[in-house]
Amino acid sequence: MLKLIRPNLHLDSVFELSADRLRGLGIDALLLDMDNTLKDYSAAAFSPAVKEWIESLRRAGVRMCILSNGKRHRVEPLAQQLGIPFVTNALKPFPFRCRSAARRLGVPPGRTAMVGDQLFADVLAGRLAGLYTILVRPTSADEPWFTSVKRPLERRVLRWMDSRPEKPTARSAHALASEPADNRSAPACVGAEPHPYKS
Ligand SMILES: [Mg+2]
Repeated sequence: MLKLIRPNLHLDSVFELSADRLRGLGIDALLLDMDNTLKDYSAAAFSPAVKEWIESLRRAGVRMCILSNGKRHRVEPLAQQLGIPFVTNALKPFPFRCRSAARRLGVPPGRTAMVGDQLFADVLAGRLAGLYTILVRPTSADEPWFTSVKRPLERRVLRWMDSRPEKPTARSAHALASEPADNRSAPACVGAEPHPYKS
């Protein structure tokens, strides 16, 4: 069970995912959660930095799709700002729409990563779908009550996982070798700090 919510990688933000790093991980496509992953929950637009990051990955040939549990009327105008496909009402943590989104991008599940800020939605859905999973810290503490009630348990689980690191696999060893030297001392799942928000 624990394996289903253990992210393959835990980062501060999506900006740590360069095209080179993704290549090193064997990842060709990203399914991107939107709220508190790419933008603060109540923000009506993406930051210029996020738009630039998306553009740099697009230029490098990384395929991307927003995969959000949000409703279409919220997600569609935002996704159009980025010019990438989107899936709404994704029903994470159920894996069905992760799988169909990966198929839509034409990339095998093993070369696709689910990126999001929630263990019990993004990581669980990605794991169940057979994807690589990347957890990022929430961009803000502004979120709906049904998300914030899960955070204390999420923090406890992350601390517990940090105290019991996963055995390295061939892929994680390769990923570590491809990481910037500055990052190599950090464990794959960082959480010495109790999952603080970035605000
Ligand atoms: Mg989110």
